[in-house]
Amino acid sequence: MVPPEMAAIPPSQTKVWQMWQGRHTFCCDGRIMVGPDINVTIFAAVLTTGVCVSFWIFVCPSLHPAVLVGGVALYAATIAFMTLTATIDPGIVPRNLHMDDAEAAANVSVQRSVDVNGVTVPLKWCHTCRIWRPPRASHCTECNVCVERFDHHCPWMGQCIGRRNYRFFIGFVTSVCLLCAYTAGFSLYVFVEVLMSLHARLQVDVLVKGFEHSPGSGTLVAFPCLILLCVGPLACYHCALISENKTTNEEIKSPYGGRNPFQRGCRRNCQEACCSALDSSRIHPRSLAEELGPWQSDGFTDGTSDALTGNGAISSEGFEHEDAVLVDSFPSGRDGHFPSHLPSHLPPAEGEQPNGTAPVQQA
Ligand SMILES: [Zn+2]
Ligand SMILES: [Zn+2]
Repeated sequence: MVPPEMAAIPPSQTKVWQMWQGRHTFCCDGRIMVGPDINVTIFAAVLTTGVCVSFWIFVCPSLHPAVLVGGVALYAATIAFMTLTATIDPGIVPRNLHMDDAEAAANVSVQRSVDVNGVTVPLKWCHTCRIWRPPRASHCTECNVCVERFDHHCPWMGQCIGRRNYRFFIGFVTSVCLLCAYTAGFSLYVFVEVLMSLHARLQVDVLVKGFEHSPGSGTLVAFPCLILLCVGPLACYHCALISENKTTNEEIKSPYGGRNPFQRGCRRNCQEACCSALDSSRIHPRSLAEELGPWQSDGFTDGTSDALTGNGAISSEGFEHEDAVLVDSFPSGRDGHFPSHLPSHLPPAEGEQPNGTAPVQQA
């Protein structure tokens, strides 16, 4: 539905972001998209900046200039990763805007699945987006969109963490840990030097005097250590998930039973998470809504509409397992593309049971 403020815009000029149904906010005529919790992200950025500026002012002058350079570089990396994570499309699967209620309701009772490395992965129908979710995708209730390789919704980033921004999220978590350790370490060094120069009979007196003489370094030991205690375990947790090619969502829900079909060995899992080519976004907020591809009405595509809108098919490479096999009657397209917008009235697959359960074909 077009927002009231956009009602004056002729329908032919309405852009995709102006009729966006997720809870995102768009700036600069759709060039920048942020999640619903962007104020929390801004607060985190201001807090990080405050701590770093205090470190540069109160601690760095008593140390070698290279410490300041290192601190600025880590701060810049942290803010850059934070900005990328918060503003990049996390891997949103476009909605099917043209499916009527009857068609959508018919899909609720249909069961579909794909075979990934010999494991049958059920596909879920999203009532809200009116699409069959690709494997590993999930609907975020905070953002009100389906996201590919959904990991979790991060309130600090104000955004979902998914296929396209997971590597930047990992970069952010890592750089925050390094920044905290760096700031706390050098602040502790300066604080201890101050303590050693003081002469007091009791240790408590030394600490109190230390804070009186160098409040900046004392505070900058405690605060980054607190953040490190929170973010450090999170970084370790995600390192473990990356090595097993799991998402947080999958770790919690265990949707595949005992075997993870996406496990490809530690080295390839790490490569896939951090170094694989970044997929192009499938949403084009600045495109005219009228230009949305024919998949919107056909229900599926052979992938040719991607050139126009970036919407449409998800290739087998889209979920990065070329050996994933559709096991039922999904129209997979000329080149094996996996459709996210499936027709509601699929003919029964060969051997399909009357209740819609598809036969399982082992890869
Ligand atoms: Zn959805
Ligand atoms: Zn979200």
